[in-house]
Amino acid sequence: MTVVRWAPSPTGRIHLGNARPALLNWFFARRTGGRYILRMDDTDLARSTREFADGIEVDLAWLGVTPDLLVRQSERTALYDAARDKLIASGRLYPAYETEDELDRKRARARLLGKPPIYDRAALGLTDEQKAAYEAEGRKPHWRFKLDGRPVHFNDLIKGPQTVNTASMSDPVLIRADGSYLYTLPSVVDDIDLEVTHVIRGEDHVSNTGTQIEIIEALGGAVPTFAHHNLLTDAAGQGFSKRLGSQSISDFRNEGYEPLAVAVMATLTGTSLPIEPYKNLDAIAEKLDFSMISHGAARFDPVELDSLNARLLHAMPYEEAFPRLSSMGLEGEAIWNLLRENLVRFQDIAEWSKLVTGPIEPVIAEEDREFLALAKAMLPAEPWDETTWSTWTNALKGATGRKGKALFLPLRMALTGRHDGPELKSLLVLLGRKACLDRLP
Ligand code: GLU
Repeated sequence: MTVVRWAPSPTGRIHLGNARPALLNWFFARRTGGRYILRMDDTDLARSTREFADGIEVDLAWLGVTPDLLVRQSERTALYDAARDKLIASGRLYPAYETEDELDRKRARARLLGKPPIYDRAALGLTDEQKAAYEAEGRKPHWRFKLDGRPVHFNDLIKGPQTVNTASMSDPVLIRADGSYLYTLPSVVDDIDLEVTHVIRGEDHVSNTGTQIEIIEALGGAVPTFAHHNLLTDAAGQGFSKRLGSQSISDFRNEGYEPLAVAVMATLTGTSLPIEPYKNLDAIAEKLDFSMISHGAARFDPVELDSLNARLLHAMPYEEAFPRLSSMGLEGEAIWNLLRENLVRFQDIAEWSKLVTGPIEPVIAEEDREFLALAKAMLPAEPWDETTWSTWTNALKGATGRKGKALFLPLRMALTGRHDGPELKSLLVLLGRKACLDRLP
């Protein structure tokens, strides 16, 4: 059985760029009948909050994802401590006492000598006496993982065969001097413990993968399969960022976008699957294969979001719209079928429905007044149906010689107060004779 996880850090509301791995993991789980774990990476106690974590759950549910399991790293420290002790015992995790300043100076010196600014592992050579002396000074160690320093190979399901050479990397710090864990160790320990089979995440994590594979192996865990997807950027080509206040998923929700439109844009931008109105997330899951995810940039286009949102609404059956319509005090399949073609966002229907319920301000040009008065006089008797419009306008054409725009536009402007809008043959039926008489001069 496949097991995936989406692992947001609850340090802000999630944005489109975060929705991409959230949903790509979901699609894969659905397609393979696997398990989906929502993992809150909340070990950074200073920046993570429960409020943000709760918000992430709400946003994910709104997008249509229902995790099989929710875990919070802040509740799993005992596991990380056990892994820490194991790595210390096997000599893979070692204490280092350099301050940030000292490390900065070392890096500057390396650069001067034309060497890569890689940590020199001085801490590995410390004697017990030297360590005791640091401790006596009140210094607390941070802990580094001793890399093998070798080419680590993995076969990425999206990017193909990858090699990360850990020889060109500094031994990563896994534990800060205050004892708190950085992202890497808890992530690896959880992936092992929760038996994650596939790690699907952004390509900004490719180089971490080399380190992580080494740590997994050092802990005796099974190495999962990796899939690193291209990152979504905003229309200007900039990465989405929680801190920059990019549009969050909750902003899209508050602005009235359909969750499916947001989900499609977040995932299918930068893939070879078309951006179009899918029936639901499962319909995308069935089609989207990792081979369809491009290796190039994925640039989000807000204009495309509007157009997709509109297309989803135009195709939406009445039964699906019904609960929202009735909460707005609007009911009737005929109104929905008439007006949905004009919607960009669902709530636009409140404005459009005034064409039927009124009040509207008829627009009547002086030169059309006589024509419209005649039109009023020639309004057919009820009952009305979808043929009434052509009966009426054909008779008017015969009586006045008007045709095309000269015939139709004055009628539209008088009956609706605007140039554009729904089909008049259907609107006429919904309006009925009395309302039409009121709108004509
Ligand atoms: N919390 C990490 C992030 O948001 C998770 C990365 C991963 O999937 O391993 O970048």
